[in-house]
Amino acid sequence: KSGYGRDGIFRSLRPPLKLPKDENANMVSFMFRDSSSYAHRLALADADSGEKLSFREFKDKVSIVGSGLSQLGLRKGDVVLLFSPNSIYFPVCFFGIVSIGAVATTVNPLYTTMEISKQIQDSKLKLIVTVPELWDKVKDLGLPTIMMGMNGDSKSASSSIISFSDVFTMGVQKSPPEVIIKQTDTAALFYSSGTTGINKAVVLTHKNFMAAALMMTSDQELKGERHLTFLCLLPMFHIYGLGFVTYGQLQRGNAVVSMGKYTFVRMLEVIQEYKITNLPLVPPIAISITKENIVKRYDLSSLKEVITAAAPLGKDIMQECANKIPQAIMTQGYGLTESCGIATIIFPKERNGHFGSAGTLVPGLEAKIVNLETGRPLPPNQRGEVWLRGPNIMTGYFNNPNATKMTLDKEGWLHTGDMGYFDDKGGLFIVDRIKELIKYKGFQVAPAELEGLLLTHPQIVDAGVIPFPDLNAGEVPIAYVVCTPGSSLTEKNFMDYVAKQVAPFKRLHRINFVDSIPRSSSGKILRRELIAKTKSKL
Ligand code: AMP
Repeated sequence: KSGYGRDGIFRSLRPPLKLPKDENANMVSFMFRDSSSYAHRLALADADSGEKLSFREFKDKVSIVGSGLSQLGLRKGDVVLLFSPNSIYFPVCFFGIVSIGAVATTVNPLYTTMEISKQIQDSKLKLIVTVPELWDKVKDLGLPTIMMGMNGDSKSASSSIISFSDVFTMGVQKSPPEVIIKQTDTAALFYSSGTTGINKAVVLTHKNFMAAALMMTSDQELKGERHLTFLCLLPMFHIYGLGFVTYGQLQRGNAVVSMGKYTFVRMLEVIQEYKITNLPLVPPIAISITKENIVKRYDLSSLKEVITAAAPLGKDIMQECANKIPQAIMTQGYGLTESCGIATIIFPKERNGHFGSAGTLVPGLEAKIVNLETGRPLPPNQRGEVWLRGPNIMTGYFNNPNATKMTLDKEGWLHTGDMGYFDDKGGLFIVDRIKELIKYKGFQVAPAELEGLLLTHPQIVDAGVIPFPDLNAGEVPIAYVVCTPGSSLTEKNFMDYVAKQVAPFKRLHRINFVDSIPRSSSGKILRRELIAKTKSKL
């Protein structure tokens, strides 16, 4: 019943995955494979602007953007940065880029210019697509930029700016080019710090996206049910918002309502206004649902499912949240950018048996729980590192063979850096994280990046950054630092130094001054020791 085999591999208990057989199937044509039968149905709505697109309009716009971009000279394999908050034009541009074989990459809009340029350094960008509010952050990168939401008449601040309406005009005049795209071609580069170090570009192919989309939906077909409306308040620059919610749902004919400016109250209003049926969340928002009395003032009766993922959420809070919205199914999923967003999920039929776990393996995915000392696979109910193998797993980190080798082994297993176990019913429980990653409200914070920044301060000689538990955010980053002798600076001075250079969610919440940072003989920071030291002082 757990899916555990004699070879030490856990296999999905669900029906097998049916991937498209044609090796030239691409994720965009796949997304629209049946859409002519529901062309007039709502595909996308923008909760901020009120704009709406039917499947026909969405498909046309994707094709026009693809054609316009190719007339601007964009070719297969060229990388384009999509730098924008959520809107209905985010998916239009994302799939427009990908439809001509170009590669889309994303950056968190909260990032500072320094963080953006560090992240994109290795991706050999050709073009940026952004919005006027974010122009200041990218204007000095020296790349041609398409401005979404700007029409051709608006005065442009720079000669490198191309208005979105000009791209459209070009796109309407000509049909998109015939480009052969293979399933194995790269579609997108999403960033993750992986198990160690700073952000790296995760290479995700057309096949990865199609597989991930089918994995989360193939055995919960809609059969006679009216189509669903998903709220996408999760950022589309992250695989959860783009892969699971936007692509995953549009490819099965569901509608997606995008929300760019999140507040808790606005979320409640939008659920009521758009009769949202499915609500994908991160744990802090699920916690707010259990705590905020204001929830009672809204009509949330349209909700059929509340999903949480991206960080752990305990059984009790899951239960409390389920009590608050009794008609909705409460479910949890687990995945990584490196697995194109999905690995396990509690499916509706399983909910009673799997409450409290992160769900069971999605169709077509294999897993191993590996003993860290012996490297041997473990049976149910024993804890070890979670390894994953399947058609949704990344092909590697872009231009980074060393990082790839450390994470993906020769047999195709992705070493997740998460500790967990499967129970007797195949439910996965994530119990700890052995990788360096800190997760603030589901956002990635890489300790190595903050340590690097601290070390640029002339009065700091060594630094170690670790997660600290936080009720609201899940985890926040804190630092241990060794100062130069005679340093007179305070905790606040150093915290401000970091805060000025990073996105708000990466700010340090505390700095402890120490004489030395524990390191292994090879010089690696022994973060576990720092974590234990912090715990002992609590
Ligand atoms: P990201 O690549 O940003 O999606 O981060 C992936 C990481 O988030 C995983 O490796 C886990 O450490 C964590 N994570 C995601 N979902 C869950 C979950 N349901 N429970 C515990 N940790 C999770």
